[in-house]
Amino acid sequence: MARDNLGAKREQPKIEPRVEPYTAHFGRQSTHNEHTHKGVVYCAGCHAIGEHKRWALDENRYKALAMDPAIQTVQCPGCERAARQEYDGEVTLTSPLIPRNEEAVLGLIYNTERHIRENNPIARIASLTLEGDTIRILTITPFLAERIGKELHKAYDGTLKLSHPEREEFVRVTWIREE
Ligand SMILES: [Zn+2]
Repeated sequence: MARDNLGAKREQPKIEPRVEPYTAHFGRQSTHNEHTHKGVVYCAGCHAIGEHKRWALDENRYKALAMDPAIQTVQCPGCERAARQEYDGEVTLTSPLIPRNEEAVLGLIYNTERHIRENNPIARIASLTLEGDTIRILTITPFLAERIGKELHKAYDGTLKLSHPEREEFVRVTWIREE
């Protein structure tokens, strides 16, 4: 018996597992959650987390928030614009090198998107079609469209044109390389 107690005592000073602040109160009163997560929301569509009027991507944090029924789910501005088919960027890439380097070109485009989204989760490719030697892309934000054009130009030269044909926030990007 004494041995058992001693054994139990020895196990007592266990260190609580380290829990991130946002999961620390999981399972307690929802009012407590509302307090700790004051102003925190997440988008069920793309997992972006909104806090202090800023949006960020953090998949681990998203998973923790998604388990908490007290957290409000919303549609982020990016998903909202995509649903309304509101695009502020239009990219047309034309070159015979596209079908020959399809994988590399698509890789460059999607890497650019991933990189831009790290800073602005709203930015994303809404649609991409590849037909013959032409890729057409619609983006939610103008900056992403510009960056895709610039990355292509940087990697493959050719001719890059940016214009704002309809309104200042909307950008049309064309990149052409003859050979
Ligand atoms: Zn979203």
